[in-house]
Amino acid sequence: MSSRGTLFTVSAPSGAGKTSLVKALADTLSRVRVSVSHTTRAIRPGEVDGTNYHFVSRKHFVDMLEQGQFLEQAEVFGNHYGTSKAWVDDTLAQGLDVILEIDWQGAQQVRRQCPEAIGVFILPPSRQALRQRLTGRGQDDAAIIERRMREASAEMSHYVESDYLIVNDDFDTALAEFQALITAHSLRLDRQQQNRQQLLMELLS
Ligand code: 5GP
Repeated sequence: MSSRGTLFTVSAPSGAGKTSLVKALADTLSRVRVSVSHTTRAIRPGEVDGTNYHFVSRKHFVDMLEQGQFLEQAEVFGNHYGTSKAWVDDTLAQGLDVILEIDWQGAQQVRRQCPEAIGVFILPPSRQALRQRLTGRGQDDAAIIERRMREASAEMSHYVESDYLIVNDDFDTALAEFQALITAHSLRLDRQQQNRQQLLMELLS
């Protein structure tokens, strides 16, 4: 029987390249699954309901909240975001690693409920690079970008609460670092003892 997977939270200020890194990671590591959050935010051009997020009404979100369906939830930039508890539990039980792309408030809630969860923080290489990335997206207007720069400072101050820190300067380097830390965790003795039970028994017989 394979062991329960590891739960990772990944936090970063908007524009640090978190979503691209997480996507590339999931494309290259077969045992990794990325949680699709529920949100009340409006869908952006290019986004797909059920892939980027489950886009739901405020009422739907509040109903889920009241039914205790969220592992964690938070209000970010005036919108509500939450992670399905059932999906995370089921996926971990299959022995798969789960990545939650969530803000610092959500990461704090996950840490309280699942102390074994691993926190990863992604930072941009400079403030200037962050601003360029936010502007380059072309999806939000100038006022939103300025607000997000201020919010970025607040988000980044929480890097100290994580277990791992990745600076996303060169994408391929950051991805290799990310892959390395996920792989290292899958090789922990407690997981290997379960995943390699047969081999260990045979070797020591
Ligand atoms: P965006 O709307 O730009 O995709 O995301 C805005 C912020 O909400 C990001 O910091 C993102 O990590 C965070 N976020 C997305 N999904 C969740 C979630 O399920 N829970 C929490 N706490 N934050 C989330």
